[in-house]
Amino acid sequence: MSSLLVDNIGELVTNGTGEGPLGIRRDAAVLVEEGRVVWVGPSAYAPAADRRLDAGGAAVLPGFVDSHAHLVFAGDRAAEFAARMAGEPYTGGGIRTTVGATRAATDDELRATVRRLRGEALRQGTTTMEIKSGYGLTVADEARSLRIAAESSTETTFLGAHVVPAEYAVRPDDYVELVCGPMLAAAAPYAKWVDVFCEQGAFDVDHARAILAAGQAAGLGVRIHANQLGPGPGVQLGVELDAASVDHCTHLSDADVDALAGTAHSDGSGTRTVATLLPGAEFSTRSPYPNARRLLDAGVTVALATDCNPGSSYTSSMPFCVALAVREMRMTPAEAVWAATAGGARALRRDDIGVLTPGARADLVVLDAPSYLHLAYRPGVPLIRQVMRNGVTP
Ligand SMILES: [Zn+2]
Repeated sequence: MSSLLVDNIGELVTNGTGEGPLGIRRDAAVLVEEGRVVWVGPSAYAPAADRRLDAGGAAVLPGFVDSHAHLVFAGDRAAEFAARMAGEPYTGGGIRTTVGATRAATDDELRATVRRLRGEALRQGTTTMEIKSGYGLTVADEARSLRIAAESSTETTFLGAHVVPAEYAVRPDDYVELVCGPMLAAAAPYAKWVDVFCEQGAFDVDHARAILAAGQAAGLGVRIHANQLGPGPGVQLGVELDAASVDHCTHLSDADVDALAGTAHSDGSGTRTVATLLPGAEFSTRSPYPNARRLLDAGVTVALATDCNPGSSYTSSMPFCVALAVREMRMTPAEAVWAATAGGARALRRDDIGVLTPGARADLVVLDAPSYLHLAYRPGVPLIRQVMRNGVTP
């Protein structure tokens, strides 16, 4: 059994016991055995190990947990982005452009895109990345999207209800029946989660409830795209169905915030539905950001994720999202880093990632900086010196 000691860590973010909300330890070391953290403590008292990684006084934090990404697609929507920056509004209708390109792509083309984006994210410190389907929208194309996603992540999500495809535009009820029946059956073997885009112009609350309930009955956990483009019933539906996460949360009523806060326990235990904020989407569509302070001040558990997709948020960078959360959503740097690590883990109902405490997976990031503060303080700068997954450099 080979052990690895990461020592001489100037600032270690554990998200466990330590100073402040991030559980910070100074001059610390982490001992890793068989891909797991087995000891955390002062560098001066570190046990011996077979190998050593000297962090050189830099900051070390848990690998980022990106709990919301759409990586299985083909095509490019740069022209749509340019048009939007020139003043055209974002409606979500461009999803159909990507659906056409995705259906026409080969498996290898889709696989290459997933691997490219997954690698890009990894180099920016993302050690866990959720991947959704949702650009196939036929039984065969959704199943193959998830089969390909499952090659790169265990956190895979069936999003057959991303948009009603053009061929079902005049009979959306029939499409919902397809999603709940044969499409779910073909997708479920490769999926851990089910998700619905519950929004005006996408799926209404009755359709969303039917699809999520069918997914639950097939053994999948629930997540939902809710209240992104306007107010609506999505957040409350998510809470009602014990969703792991309600994502976007840009337009919330007081009742929505209360519903989310009602699911959280003040000691952090038993926290259920997480509010996942995706500021890359507001940045890329030039839209008002969600009110993170209102959620945090109400005691809601908040996660940050990229929403990486070719239309509304084509970034794979969690450090960029941390910087946006601090600058544009008034989260403190500590809140943003927690949300991008432990918060993402909660949004995936995982307790073995997003923390660096004994028993956790040895998924960690060594920064080219003395403190996690630099993630927000130095936006756009490549600060990830080294990434480890399961105790090894991938
Ligand atoms: Zn999304």
